[in-house]
Amino acid sequence: MIRTRIAPSPTGNLHIGTARTALFNYLFAKKMGGRFIVRIEDTDIERSNKKFEKNIIEGLKWLGMGEDEGPLVGGDYGPYRQSERTKTYKPYIEKLLSESKAFYCFHSEKELAEEKENLMKSKKHPVHLCEYRNISLEEANILREAKNDYIIRFKNHVGRKITFNDLVRKDLSFDSDLIGDFSIAKRIDVPLYNFAVVVDDEIMEISHVIRGEDHISNTPKQLLLIEALGFKKPTYAHLPLILGSDRSKLSKRHGATSVDEYKDLGYLSESLFNFMALLGWNPGDDREILSKEELIESFSMEKVQKSGAIFDLNKLDWMNGEYIRRKSIAELAKLSQPFLKVKSKKYLEKILELEQSRIKKLSELPEKVDYFFKEPSADKDLLRWKNMTDEEIKSSIKKLLELLKENKEQDIKIIEKVFLEEAGKMGDRGRLLWPLRSALSGKKASAGPFEIISILGVEQSIKRLENALQSI
Ligand code: GLU
Repeated sequence: MIRTRIAPSPTGNLHIGTARTALFNYLFAKKMGGRFIVRIEDTDIERSNKKFEKNIIEGLKWLGMGEDEGPLVGGDYGPYRQSERTKTYKPYIEKLLSESKAFYCFHSEKELAEEKENLMKSKKHPVHLCEYRNISLEEANILREAKNDYIIRFKNHVGRKITFNDLVRKDLSFDSDLIGDFSIAKRIDVPLYNFAVVVDDEIMEISHVIRGEDHISNTPKQLLLIEALGFKKPTYAHLPLILGSDRSKLSKRHGATSVDEYKDLGYLSESLFNFMALLGWNPGDDREILSKEELIESFSMEKVQKSGAIFDLNKLDWMNGEYIRRKSIAELAKLSQPFLKVKSKKYLEKILELEQSRIKKLSELPEKVDYFFKEPSADKDLLRWKNMTDEEIKSSIKKLLELLKENKEQDIKIIEKVFLEEAGKMGDRGRLLWPLRSALSGKKASAGPFEIISILGVEQSIKRLENALQSI
């Protein structure tokens, strides 16, 4: 059974990087008929917060990655929060200690810092090969009574190569001498990341560890622990970093980094899902718009790239526009609710019919369509087409008013026909149509005048033209 997991630390809102890692885990699991698991790595009590856990799990759900197992939905391999699993780790730490594969280290932080500094000064790798690595458990127990301060370290091998085959990075090899005796627990019942992750992945029967490439350097340590504990080795896949447009690691400097921020900016969950899938992967053909089902169907680890994936906001905008256009008006109205507080559903739908093809994100709506909710302030310079004089604008608007009043009861199609005929007579149609559209919308760019009249109604349109006339 293929089992993948995302193991976020709840120390911030759902980050795009975490969401992309989750997505690759999700797509791979679904493609292989496996299970996608959420495990919350909340052992850092000071920085972890329940509100972030909630944000992460809700964010994944919003994106369409419902978990098969996790702290909220449960499962057979729980609990799914590390803070609820503290008892799980202790026997494994004790096992390593009793087999002399791990040991108590009594160096103070100051001593370790000095050692590191000296090694660096003499241009050596800052590796800690601990003086306590060979003391017996009895000696260690005596020392523990005397000194309060200790950590537990893995007794590393000397002169050993640790190799593994990564699904993305292929054959990787590490030198144990460059790793040294690394720490695995702060206390007998307080494991550190590398230890906890190995125990959890084993117990939860995780078959594939798919995570960011910033974890590559942790993998040899985890492999050594897996071997020492006699665990089953998972398959690893380390995903390329997400880079900003300047090719540096994606950060706040590049703009929004959390899924929430993108949601608030009016990106649809489907477009973010699709966009993130292409951050470091492609379907092997030129398709860019792929539904969730198509992504699951086409996903394969072989097509995950090694090099950094550029987060191209213009592409996301384009893609979001495409997804907006694929929505039904009713769906779009629902999605637009947080951005446009409109009481009448019908009125909102009419406006959205106009704007669906124009917008790239829902957050553009309030600014784009405000004139449907309040009369624009008339501005004679805005009403001016090319080099029309004030008198000419005035006479255009008078004409517009006359025609509109005459055709009050007519269908919008007739009104359009009458206006276009009149505009045609003027040589340059803009002399009539520009003042009309700008008087109605108060904007340089908007939907066409007849579309606006059909939504505002003739009475409101007359009122706006009269306001415009008065401003000249
Ligand atoms: N808690 C780790 C993180 O958020 C998990 C790393 C892993 O997948 O092993 O980066």
